[in-house]
Amino acid sequence: KAGFVALVGRPNVGKSTLLNALLGRKVAIATPKPQTTRNRIVGIVHRPDGQLILLDTPGIHRAQHKLGQRMNQTARLTAREADLIWHIVDISRPPNEEDRWAASLCRQSQIPTWLIGNKSDLVADAAAGLAPYQELMGYQAHWIISAAHELGLTDLVERTFEVL
Ligand code: GDP
Ligand code: MG
Repeated sequence: KAGFVALVGRPNVGKSTLLNALLGRKVAIATPKPQTTRNRIVGIVHRPDGQLILLDTPGIHRAQHKLGQRMNQTARLTAREADLIWHIVDISRPPNEEDRWAASLCRQSQIPTWLIGNKSDLVADAAAGLAPYQELMGYQAHWIISAAHELGLTDLVERTFEVL
């Protein structure tokens, strides 16, 4: 079983840290593969029962202001190469314009999207930090993690395998 998960999120939310944490584990091997059609494979989590193929969509993370660019970015996600999107956010800060933009791309893609609230180690009340992000779109599920401290990652990966 192989499933494709696209990592989406504005700069600085912890996407690279999350990738490193997932791929640095014993179960994980980073396999260099150039491209799928639209998305770049940034890592593969290998398990006895299958693979989680992690995708980055180049260029979608930064807010784009020209209409043509926006349409282009939406098309990349709607290529449907991903079975699931992880929309990664930083719950130690409130949502900003770039978070809203990322959420709108996720919504337009019509791909099931999970909200991943990162940096839980920085907040006293993670649920309160996550709440304003849950308003951004209709997420199918939400998770609270700390990529830097490797908290919540096992559950996230386990559950992702279950739905793919
Ligand atoms: P990216 O731009 O989304 O790839 O974000 P990075 O992975 O480069 O992380 C941006 C900054 O946030 C770096 O300084 C990371 O060390 C920090 N960071 C990432 N995850 C966490 C976390 O779970 N907790 C804390 N406190 N910092 C984090
Ligand atoms: Mg990065």
